[in-house]
Amino acid sequence: MTSRKFVGAHVSASGGVYNAPMNAKEIGAKAFALFTKNQRQWVAKPLDDETIAKFKEALDASGISAKHVLPHDSYLINLGHPEVEKLEKSRAAFIDELERCDALGLDKLNFHPGSHLAKLTKKQKEESALLQTIENKCLDVIAESINLALEQTQNVKAVIENTAGQGSNLGYKFEHLAYIIERIKDKSRIGVCIDTCHMFTAGYDIRTKEAYEKTWNEFGEIVGFEYLSGMHINDSKPPLGAKVDRHHSLGKGEIGLDAFRFIMNDERMDDIPLILETIDETIWAEEIALLYSF
Ligand SMILES: [Zn+2]
Ligand SMILES: [Zn+2]
Repeated sequence: MTSRKFVGAHVSASGGVYNAPMNAKEIGAKAFALFTKNQRQWVAKPLDDETIAKFKEALDASGISAKHVLPHDSYLINLGHPEVEKLEKSRAAFIDELERCDALGLDKLNFHPGSHLAKLTKKQKEESALLQTIENKCLDVIAESINLALEQTQNVKAVIENTAGQGSNLGYKFEHLAYIIERIKDKSRIGVCIDTCHMFTAGYDIRTKEAYEKTWNEFGEIVGFEYLSGMHINDSKPPLGAKVDRHHSLGKGEIGLDAFRFIMNDERMDDIPLILETIDETIWAEEIALLYSF
């Protein structure tokens, strides 16, 4: 059933966003991710008409359809920031990212939910009631940020990525994703992207058929497959539940190849972008071919 699968990688857009589609095509990708601006800077100059036209032309020439492109926002943005000024800055930057996607004719923006930034001791983290209060407060802020951004933009779906749960990053539990979605007013413009490395190091096992089914059943019950808008296909350097975000090449990490074989044969992952963010980009073409061989 792999013909319904759209696999690619997070390719370079250096020199201009219009270079990304060809960078994807060259490695045999049928999908791709990109940054529409420098991901380590707050402000970028707006996309001009010529750049937009060149991007659309290149996308057309690549044969990749817009719905299989999954742009990623800047790492600087924290939609749950506890300080007003920095929250405002993040919200403005997020709206700009949504507008850039829309200008390029793309219908999704992938982002990490946010971090509460509280410095909790190990003991405090083990007090589940306290931790949940802090996390829910931050998730409320994140949901409000998304609602505000969706009100001021159009066409683009905000796609929340699950995280490894490193530091104070939220989104490491399916419940976090569901909590945010529940609070979004326009449900047609909210989705999720599941990163296999993040999922695994957050404690969700997918290594055996049994574990795989159990994890995805949980996802289906808590979040719902109607929200699954993309995936990041990564193996993991850290072991199950380590809550550390370190990607690895497919089959070289702790997850192993079986999980990726299951995904490629699972129709619940049909027709959405499946994006490699593995660490060795020189073997992306081989990894894409390997996935299609499943
Ligand atoms: Zn990400
Ligand atoms: Zn990812």
